[in-house]
Amino acid sequence: MTEKADALRNLLILQERDQRVRELRRQLQALPREKDSLEARIKDRGAALQQHRLDAQHVETQRKELDLEVQSHKHQIAKYRQQQLQTRKNDEYAALGHEIERAEKRIVEIEDRELDLMEKFEAAQKAVASESAQVAEFEKAVRAQIADVEKKLRAVEAQIAEAEAERTTARAGVAPDILKRYQRILDHRGDAALVPLVHGSICGGCHMKVTSQTSLDVKAARGIVACENCGRILYEPGE
Ligand SMILES: [Zn+2]
Repeated sequence: MTEKADALRNLLILQERDQRVRELRRQLQALPREKDSLEARIKDRGAALQQHRLDAQHVETQRKELDLEVQSHKHQIAKYRQQQLQTRKNDEYAALGHEIERAEKRIVEIEDRELDLMEKFEAAQKAVASESAQVAEFEKAVRAQIADVEKKLRAVEAQIAEAEAERTTARAGVAPDILKRYQRILDHRGDAALVPLVHGSICGGCHMKVTSQTSLDVKAARGIVACENCGRILYEPGE
């Protein structure tokens, strides 16, 4: 009976180590995803900053185009003035004067718009500067988080190696036929092969009431006793 109780105890140790390995593997799987999502946040912030830069550039391009337009009007005005000097006809002179006035008015309008755009450009540049400082801060913080995740990843890998070695040791302490049975139940149920007998009569795995004989066998620690409903091996808690 002592030997059988030992078998059960060894199985419990094995199950505990199996579960630890499983839990660590689950943690290990989650970590690369965590890292990817942090990388994505950096990328998103960078993309937003780039968009602000493009907006500022666009404003500046518009202003330069207007500048060229002003140059062209000024050039035209100089030409009209030249023509005024050359004409002897009063009506032609007056018509040219009228054209000059129109062009000058147009220049004033364009320069007003240029002023607007210059203000917009300055505001956009300020936004870019402050945003870029914020992005740098943000990136620094997130990079530190990523470094933490990577450190955790290496730690979990080391823990897994250790837990696997402990599991191997635990397996060595279990008879092959019992080990086979344990593994079969674990593969089939996915969660646990060994479950406690709750309140002396309820299977801790499927929560069904077991027969009184099963209950007695478990309490007496008569070897490997399984729940007749789900097949999981039962043990008396506190053992
Ligand atoms: Zn059960």
